[in-house]
Amino acid sequence: MHIQQQVPLAPLTTFKVGGPARYFAEALSEEDVRAAVAEAQTRGWPLFVLGGGSNLVISDAGWPGLVLKIALTGISERRDGARMVFDAAAGEDWDGLVAHAVASHCAGIECLSGIPGTVGGTPVQNVGAYGQEVSDTISSVRVLDTSGGKICELPNADSGFAYRTSIFNARERGRYIVLRVTFALVPGGAAHIEYADLKGHFAGRSRPPTLAETREAVRAIRLSKAMLIVPGDDDCHSAGSFFKNPLLTRQAFEQLQARAGPIPNFPAKDGRVKVAAAWLVEHSGFTKGLARGPVGISRKHALAIVNRGGATAADIIALKNQIQRRVLDQFGIQLQPEPVFVGFDQ
Ligand SMILES: Cc1cc2nc3c(=O)[nH]c(=O)nc-3n(C[C@H](O)[C@H](O)[C@H](O)COP(=O)(O)OP(=O)(O)OC[C@H]3O[C@@H](n4cnc5c(N)ncnc54)[C@H](O)[C@@H]3O)c2cc1C
Repeated sequence: MHIQQQVPLAPLTTFKVGGPARYFAEALSEEDVRAAVAEAQTRGWPLFVLGGGSNLVISDAGWPGLVLKIALTGISERRDGARMVFDAAAGEDWDGLVAHAVASHCAGIECLSGIPGTVGGTPVQNVGAYGQEVSDTISSVRVLDTSGGKICELPNADSGFAYRTSIFNARERGRYIVLRVTFALVPGGAAHIEYADLKGHFAGRSRPPTLAETREAVRAIRLSKAMLIVPGDDDCHSAGSFFKNPLLTRQAFEQLQARAGPIPNFPAKDGRVKVAAAWLVEHSGFTKGLARGPVGISRKHALAIVNRGGATAADIIALKNQIQRRVLDQFGIQLQPEPVFVGFDQ
């Protein structure tokens, strides 16, 4: 495997900011992954695993060790009882897998159409949209355990999935490299039409939408919010939603509404309420289209910080800090960022 030096990382991300990788390698096979990990460990290089770069803010200094780009490919499918099981290699394009599943009339991930990045990136923050999360259909995740060098299959129940989290970005952050993800989907299953945006899109129809129609609707809705990567659209130079939707107890939510008025919200697990972070950001004065030099807020979505061209990571962090401070002052809520910050604490 070829190890390159001083490779610019900004072009490998959707935000298009950040410095270089001191060392960089691309893994096309599980053997490559093992070899790269062994090399990094022998030489004492800190290791960062790169997927599609769609959920990253890379520091202006870049990464001081080895960046390993996961480029393993291959999708296979097999029948297992009432389910169709898809094994997808970690470097596969996520939306390509969704398209493949939908074309095979298998339900379970259709609402996750149009999300950028790789298959291997999806379990990390338990990717979700429009009422589906990958944890609903992942049956297991094949990983390399960098602490002992073993490859193992982690069942769904051991992956610690919850809203935008898993063991991969929390308790065991940095330990596992995802090699393959196995999804169990429902052949001939109905599309999941739960969220208001999707219900609105299909309102007044006499028959339920097919999986393919749902996929197209999701992509159209995402396009209208610049949540679909369209080359040349600077509203897409982002990491998607920059903040997680806060999860509040019902009591805290009612207190917040009593002070602030009606806020868009969704029911969450354990009786909690998920509050729209976009609303909090907008009602703190950071409206769509806001510009602060080379950074700003997407013209189509208040939750996306965007690089309008030539932004640095420091510019992004400055705007993030301002938003967090204002939302905290105004609503008493500490917004948690969603992207991964790379190379800031080295
Ligand atoms: C326009 C836009 C829209 C988006 N919409 C959504 C959305 O609706 N819902 C949502 O949940 N997210 C969304 N995102 C965020 C992002 O697309 C997802 O989090 C995606 O799954 C990240 O995958 P990636 O391959 O790009 O990972 P990267 O950004 O490369 O990496 C993200 C994290 O995952 C780790 N990682 C990546 N691959 C592996 C691997 N093989 N093994 C171990 N760790 C790995 C990295 O080390 C890093 O910590 C959006 C982003 C953009 C730019």
